[in-house]
Amino acid sequence: MMNHDPVVQVAGAEELARDLVVIPNRRVELVPNIGVIGGTRAVLVVETGLGPANAEAVLAFAAEFARGRELYLTTTHFHPEHAFGAEVFAGRATYLVNQAQADDLAAKGPGYLGMFKGLGEGVARRLEGVSVAAPDVVYADAYDLDLGGRVVHLRATGRAHSRGDQVVTVPDAGMMFTGDLVEAGQFAIFPWFPPHDTDVSGVRWIAVMERLAARLPRVVVPGHGDLGGPELLAGTLDYLRLLREETWLRRDSAMPEETIVAEVRAAMLDRHPDWAGQEWIEKGVACLCAEHL
Ligand SMILES: [Zn+2]
Repeated sequence: MMNHDPVVQVAGAEELARDLVVIPNRRVELVPNIGVIGGTRAVLVVETGLGPANAEAVLAFAAEFARGRELYLTTTHFHPEHAFGAEVFAGRATYLVNQAQADDLAAKGPGYLGMFKGLGEGVARRLEGVSVAAPDVVYADAYDLDLGGRVVHLRATGRAHSRGDQVVTVPDAGMMFTGDLVEAGQFAIFPWFPPHDTDVSGVRWIAVMERLAARLPRVVVPGHGDLGGPELLAGTLDYLRLLREETWLRRDSAMPEETIVAEVRAAMLDRHPDWAGQEWIEKGVACLCAEHL
């Protein structure tokens, strides 16, 4: 991670539906999948990339794509690679998010800025001069954004991967942007950092995934990793359920937590030997231990 530079490559943008492109993260750590969704009147950008330089590249790409149409920005949750470029859009786009995410940005944004600057020189350089943006429009639970001939659904899911997760769907294209509620080819990211941040909830995350998986979108754009279909939702749900089951089974027997972590980690690696992000398994176990009833 030391010199890792999380660069958004806008040249890799792929058209997935009419007037709708995704800038894929190409499995690069701390780069999110980014969406640009057009209607006759306006264009919505989903995620900024980490820091102002990435966000400027995304904004320039979106402005060219828009050809004079009005711009909107939304982010799936407040984590830095998703939202810490939003200030670049100020005055150029209307930044629209759910209330819980706006609260996360204000309350935890500055702390996460400090934490991410400690991840390595490359990341720190990307975050130089960043200030946490304030959204222009904030909604409570649901917002239907009419882009002209295309309505995009913005929905707060309730606390799961973070306190303020939001899912963005484009019904006419059968597309769902999940943010970090879903990651492809890696273990689910549990930002469990007690005592600073314990908002992630494995139990609530499972409940959210049950609702999302039932909707069977045609294309799922995960927060990180390759795009897929509804199997990405089912895969995340299966993993989270298995993680809870294996953790709680051992918790019931009053096993020490380090033994639980070691055994569950081994079981998960056995189940998914090819998945990245192994460090998130033990954070998930710790979170679920704390949520054990
Ligand atoms: Zn995240």
